Amino acid sequence: MDLRDLYQDIILDHGRHPRNFGKLEHPSHFAHGHNPLCGDKITVYLTVAGDRIEDVKFEGRGCAISTASSSLMTEVLKGKTIADANQLFRSFHAKVTGGAAPPLSEALEEDADRLDPLTGVKAYPVRVKCATLPWHAVQAALEEGAVGKTVKTE
Ligand code: ZN
Repeated sequence: MDLRDLYQDIILDHGRHPRNFGKLEHPSHFAHGHNPLCGDKITVYLTVAGDRIEDVKFEGRGCAISTASSSLMTEVLKGKTIADANQLFRSFHAKVTGGAAPPLSEALEEDADRLDPLTGVKAYPVRVKCATLPWHAVQAALEEGAVGKTVKTE
């Protein structure tokens, strides 16, 4: 099995059996993400205490890429500080858009590697928006004073 097949398996697995799928009853932050090009609609819920993301979940409907990306994102973001979450987003965004990834602190490299299965989307510009949608939604949720905002990928 080559790496491409393996990555495909990870995306299919997370697309079919998303982790952390569902609603948080009392989120401190949440936001909706809408990708009209593909029809992906998701909502991310976060419980933030101090500067740490204690819990994160998502729900919604989307293609396999957006669902897998949301699932993998919630796995790596749980327990992270907001600063670390921002670092991971910048790194992931650079990788999926084919840009130069900014250096990450060593502690985050393993988390960034877990997102690598999704970086194959850089060959498909339309799919990039599917992969980055949940991250944009988290960014929107964490913006000061934003409650239940909707972010569109355009
Ligand atoms: Zn999509």
